[in-house]
Amino acid sequence: MAFDVIIVGGGINGTGIARDAALRGLRVVLLEQADFCTATSRWSSRLIHGGLRYLEHAELALVRESLRERETLLAIAPHLVHPLPLLVPVYRGARRGPLTVRAGMWLYDLLSAGKSLPAHRMLDAAAARARMPGLASSGLVAAALYHDAQVEFPERLVLENVLAARAAGAELRPYTRVERLLVEAGCVRGVVARDPGSGREDTVLAPLVVNASGPWVDRLLDTLPGRRPRPLIGGAKGTHLVVDRLAGSAATACYAEAGADGRPFFVIPWNGLTLIGTTDVAYGGDPARVTADSAEIDYLLAEAARLFPAAGLTRAAVRYVYVGVRPLPAAAGKEQAAITRRHHVRHHRLVARGLYSVIGGKLTTYRNLAELVVDRLARKVARNLRPCETAQQILPGAVADPVPLAAELVQRAGLAPAAASRLLRVYGQRALAIGELVGREPALGTALTRASVAAEIVHAFESEHATTLADVLMRRTMLGLDADLGAAALEPALAAGARHLGWDAARCGVERERFLAETAALRQPVAARDEAQRA
Ligand SMILES: Cc1cc2nc3c(=O)[nH]c(=O)nc-3n(C[C@H](O)[C@H](O)[C@H](O)COP(=O)(O)OP(=O)(O)OC[C@H]3O[C@@H](n4cnc5c(N)ncnc54)[C@H](O)[C@@H]3O)c2cc1C
Repeated sequence: MAFDVIIVGGGINGTGIARDAALRGLRVVLLEQADFCTATSRWSSRLIHGGLRYLEHAELALVRESLRERETLLAIAPHLVHPLPLLVPVYRGARRGPLTVRAGMWLYDLLSAGKSLPAHRMLDAAAARARMPGLASSGLVAAALYHDAQVEFPERLVLENVLAARAAGAELRPYTRVERLLVEAGCVRGVVARDPGSGREDTVLAPLVVNASGPWVDRLLDTLPGRRPRPLIGGAKGTHLVVDRLAGSAATACYAEAGADGRPFFVIPWNGLTLIGTTDVAYGGDPARVTADSAEIDYLLAEAARLFPAAGLTRAAVRYVYVGVRPLPAAAGKEQAAITRRHHVRHHRLVARGLYSVIGGKLTTYRNLAELVVDRLARKVARNLRPCETAQQILPGAVADPVPLAAELVQRAGLAPAAASRLLRVYGQRALAIGELVGREPALGTALTRASVAAEIVHAFESEHATTLADVLMRRTMLGLDADLGAAALEPALAAGARHLGWDAARCGVERERFLAETAALRQPVAARDEAQRA
């Protein structure tokens, strides 16, 4: 098939662009070196936010755009993006006193005008403690309560963009690494791609190529023949700790000022656990090899323990650690936190006309970024395309009211209420397809864990582009991000593979090893530190 555009990178930006481009009528192929959403898009704070702190850098346009997109995502993906209350405690002597916080909140509300989430409220210390009983009381003078949103599983948001792109005619190829860009007479002609498993190389041709490879953007550009362009990305790594749900932190997130350096940081209720993040450290190494430093882990633990002193936060409390590299615009000499989170798109018209690179951006603004990119692509195509519809068209699992669907899953498929409600939380209305599988083949209703079923394994391979069991557990069922990193689900999932997908012992062995290697990388910084402490 002849393609109009090749998209390199299956994170939120690449898949968002694929969806938009395919919906408008472009012939699209997306190439991703691993599974979809294996990099920055998943290792984020998982917030869909206006960016309160960008107000300090006077980035009003970015805040306004982010708030508008927050509203759009709440509407097109209500099953994945939920309102999240956040408390901003103000302590005596903090850099940002009550007046500064109140002024910031007022401006944030002003920029949010017309949006669905409630305006902020200022609370006195007693009311703040009533809302969040575990919060340190010493020196607490006030707090602001406001709302943003959370995407619990960006992995699923990315996947739903994949599914929508596919439904609109795009071809999506995970586990296909672009080795180099092909250029002739100053114009991009396509790419050479390799299947990392078989080593087989393939040439894919198109007059337009979008480099949406996130922190790998410069590495891909390095494959351009001739002159090496100046770096576009200045990577910044950010680490998060996952601990059990903190006693006294409730369902409200805490957005506080770090005692050590005044940086804003979050303690967020997430997936039945708590997410503590994040750091912001310049990083120029290989994005695939990034790891958390011990100092980052200590910093996050100390800051969270200072805010929640009774929570008993020590190294032993850390379930796992994840780290991602922000693909920020290169800005030599600038303080990390001051580097803009705005996105921009670079057309390499002088060296490879038709090649576009995506720089920066946020999960929150991916849809708008995609619209911008596809507007530019559309100008290069000599035929009429449909207008952008991604702000109006809901994503495939979108469901406004899951309650009737839960009843249907319980009554028709015979699922336990806990399983029905978890399926709806993860898959939205796509949970019905899993219910149908169970209805047809009752053995697929066998439990993997208390609230998950074998049908999810079959569904992921048959309908959700999964290639490995690690893909399924980490980025489809989301069981791999539970407190035990999916350990309880592993053997039942392998048994489901053997029974329903015909896996032999050798295949089960390979799948087990791959999965364990992936989860070991999340445990590893904690384990390494434990080793060091024992020595
Ligand atoms: C610590 C941290 C916290 C963040 N928190 C938030 C937040 O709360 N809210 C928010 O809105 N944003 C947040 N962000 C920003 C947001 O996560 C990123 O801007 C966004 O995910 C970038 O998406 P992407 O698709 O460009 O990159 P990625 O998700 O990294 O995707 C790029 C993809 O390209 C693939 N690729 C690379 N090279 C090749 C190749 N040669 N061939 C084929 N494929 C290739 C990679 O495998 C990868 O899957 C955060 C970022 C970090 C690091």
